[in-house]
Amino acid sequence: MNVLLLGSGGREHALAWRLTQSPLLDTLFAAPGNPGIADHATIVTLEPTDGAAVTAFCAEQDIGLVIVGPEAPLVAGVADDLRTAGIAVFGPGRAAAQLEGSKSFTKALCDRANIPTASYVRAAALDEALAALPQFALPVVVKADGLAAGKGVIIAATSQEAEEACRTIFGGAFGEAGAEVVIEEFLEGEEISFFALTDGVSALRFGSAQDHKRVGDGDVGPNTGGMGAYSPASVLTPEIEAQVMADIIEPTVRTMAAEGTPCGGVLFAGLMLTATGPKLIEYNVRFGDPECQVLMMRFDGDLLVLLRAVAEGRLAGAEPPRMIADAALTVVMAANGYPGTPAKGGTIEGIAAAEADGAKVFHAGTALYGGALTASGGRVLAVTATGATVAAAQATAYRAVDAIDFPTGFCRRDIGWREVARERG
Ligand code: ATP
Repeated sequence: MNVLLLGSGGREHALAWRLTQSPLLDTLFAAPGNPGIADHATIVTLEPTDGAAVTAFCAEQDIGLVIVGPEAPLVAGVADDLRTAGIAVFGPGRAAAQLEGSKSFTKALCDRANIPTASYVRAAALDEALAALPQFALPVVVKADGLAAGKGVIIAATSQEAEEACRTIFGGAFGEAGAEVVIEEFLEGEEISFFALTDGVSALRFGSAQDHKRVGDGDVGPNTGGMGAYSPASVLTPEIEAQVMADIIEPTVRTMAAEGTPCGGVLFAGLMLTATGPKLIEYNVRFGDPECQVLMMRFDGDLLVLLRAVAEGRLAGAEPPRMIADAALTVVMAANGYPGTPAKGGTIEGIAAAEADGAKVFHAGTALYGGALTASGGRVLAVTATGATVAAAQATAYRAVDAIDFPTGFCRRDIGWREVARERG
């Protein structure tokens, strides 16, 4: 079978690496890809959000399955275009992508399906938002409704900060994403990422991970796309996981299907493990980056068979995904300046040496110039390793990081710190 993978990050490199291990695969194409993905796939020049161009390419190349990595093509409706043309696609249509694209859509779904989440108020205008604020204890969470690359969420410690956040959002700081505001109760607990696969009718748990969003060691500094992750998140015990499937994932799948907007693909639930049980913070409708890198290191099966079963609505009969018992950990190496303006063009050497010890280096923002590997984006590499414990995976991953010569880059040195502390007891 010929497969087209859309995307260009570390997540897509990890997916490409696993897909090429499937005997079912004939040719893997990737658009736009990156130099790491090019080791596994034929790179094609194609705009991933251009549904007509993607559909035409699939017809030309006899593509049996399209796998959509990032959210932008999903929000743009590329999966709808492909389904209309009779092409199997892993990823939901535009209507279900609202689970990621609109916070108020997801909150309203939680109401309808009785899914545990923070109590909230939606406001369509500044005076409504200011009037609602006093009913929340401090700190309070103020969110722009739409996608704002992680910057549209403000945790306000004082009423003044909360009012300021509402004024900033309604003042247009986030454009269309700030046309509505969601004000939420602040949830206390540990935050984890949970992944389920669904064909729109059935759902299977895939795995768990914990991301590190802040740029600096000790979880300080501005938010990023993610500076590292480990899997599994042991705080998510099998009992809590069963509760998450029964109280959060399954009601979501059932309700979306009943309302005519089935959410086939990945459900990536951002969860807060509170004293009163797991609560949904947000949904994403694609694999996380860098969580995908650790999940792919642990996945023990034929990824193409599984993703095809999801895309073709055959998950009910599919074998539940298996993960190896070992832990996996990934360290993101970013270009200096990230998450502000990253320094581009810096050279990178030593990848082969880094991989000599069993680590896997996934490319994100890299480019080849005259045969030299250089940094072309904010997050550049995801250096990933497995081990019997998270501490062991962490040691191997940092040895690999230290073998890489990337003078204009940096990374956090404490990825996995919560789990390593738990393992030490
Ligand atoms: P954006 O839409 O700007 O890209 P996002 O989709 O990442 O942002 P959320 O996941 O809703 O937005 O929130 C970002 C982070 O803020 C969460 O990962 C969590 O750490 C924190 N957060 C959000 N809601 C709450 C809450 N109710 N209580 C405590 N922390 C929260």
